[in-house]
Amino acid sequence: MMLVSLSVSELRQKLVAREVSPVEALDAVEQRIAAVDDQVHGYLSRNLAVARESAQKADLSKPLGGVPIAIKDVINVTGEPCTCGSKFLLSYRANYDATVIARLRAAGAIPFGRANMDEFAMGSSTENSAFGPSHNPWDPTRTTGGSSGGSAAVVAADEAFAALGSDTGGSIRQPAALCGIVGMKPTYGRVSRYGLVAFASSLDQIGPFTKTVRDAGLILNAIAGRDPMDSTSLDQPVPDATALLGRDIRGMKLGMPREYFIEGIDPQVDAAVRAAIKHYETLGAEIVEVSLPNTEHAVGVYYIIATAEASANLARFDGVRYGHRAADTSGLLEHYGKTREEGFGPEVKRRIILGTYVLSSGYYDAFYLRAQKVRTLIRNDFTAAFEKCDAIVCPTTPEPAFKLGDRADDPLKMYLADIFTIAANLAGICGLSLPCGFADIDGRNLPIGLQLLARPFDEPRLLQIAHAYEQSTVWHRQRPSL
Ligand code: GLN
Repeated sequence: MMLVSLSVSELRQKLVAREVSPVEALDAVEQRIAAVDDQVHGYLSRNLAVARESAQKADLSKPLGGVPIAIKDVINVTGEPCTCGSKFLLSYRANYDATVIARLRAAGAIPFGRANMDEFAMGSSTENSAFGPSHNPWDPTRTTGGSSGGSAAVVAADEAFAALGSDTGGSIRQPAALCGIVGMKPTYGRVSRYGLVAFASSLDQIGPFTKTVRDAGLILNAIAGRDPMDSTSLDQPVPDATALLGRDIRGMKLGMPREYFIEGIDPQVDAAVRAAIKHYETLGAEIVEVSLPNTEHAVGVYYIIATAEASANLARFDGVRYGHRAADTSGLLEHYGKTREEGFGPEVKRRIILGTYVLSSGYYDAFYLRAQKVRTLIRNDFTAAFEKCDAIVCPTTPEPAFKLGDRADDPLKMYLADIFTIAANLAGICGLSLPCGFADIDGRNLPIGLQLLARPFDEPRLLQIAHAYEQSTVWHRQRPSL
């Protein structure tokens, strides 16, 4: 096996045994990037010199000592670009570390490389990136998913051992599913967002992309916990996310939500997810039917709340403080208007306009307030479901990776790519996607993702259930041929 194909925990064993040095690991990653990233376009930038310096000093006694980790280009890393996939921030350089970056460094990891993404994390395919889309390593004519598509692609293509992304409505789980790796959205409040450029503050969470479930736990352990710089981070001790790995899941109850097995879902995805559920039965889990009756409203509610919050968060891009600034304007309003007209791409503008509209007087009650009420109903659905089961099991996406260009001109169709992931963000619960098979489409193997959702702050159990499936199947060992 190639060095770059190792999981984080396998790499750590080799580092600790002194079979490989951190600099060798980093160089292997860089060579792999040089060999395949022109096909994948997973990275926007890298600073090898700085990373090598950290690798030379890496403390191997730390839990992630010597492990390079790719970072979605929406998280601030001192001295590096943080474009958010936007022309607006082309000239910006971060002058501080996000809390997750400081914590990765404290755990010995080396942030290396900035991963491509949809502009300001708005999208499901990375086609909204101002720097061109990423390509799915399993079939480069297809999308990686999004918005954290670059992070997913570089892990799937062995151009990174692991990566960080952000998930507002599915942006970690959906691309992980389409690229055939593990992607986890922690519970809202588990991980600090300080230094994450905000999209929708009541929904955003940072989480890991990894090759194995165990790795997701290792990275979560490093980044989780209270941060005084983010008042939404929970002030409670963080349990070891890997504590339950390997314990058997006999007698556990897994809920199959009626509303997630619907018409319109790709038959190969449906079959793979049902087979995975059968597999869980053979592992001793009991499958129960649950209902999440407000599922049909999730996408509508999300696109009101997320756009409302985005319109407020993106007001800071005014051409005064940082980023793009239009030339030759006369007067403040023209300055704002021209700067934003030039700096933002079409999807970001669409969202700002939509968000401003749903918050405007006269429409606030009809749209925003109402959406917040339905959000509570969606949350209540999950609370009720978790009275009957330990975790929910369902597809991550309705279909495997779609063709690049297929949906780029149809925002509504694009919005539906997240139909199964969005509710978890609205409810604030934790979830992950892991590989559960392949669809054969046009003679190509395209990965299928199994989504597991669990109660707030129940990450150790979520990972335990995922790990039991992963370790008794072969899917996570498959690699695309690039
Ligand atoms: N695809 C969804 C959107 O476009 C979710 C994005 C995300 O999770 N950042 O808003």
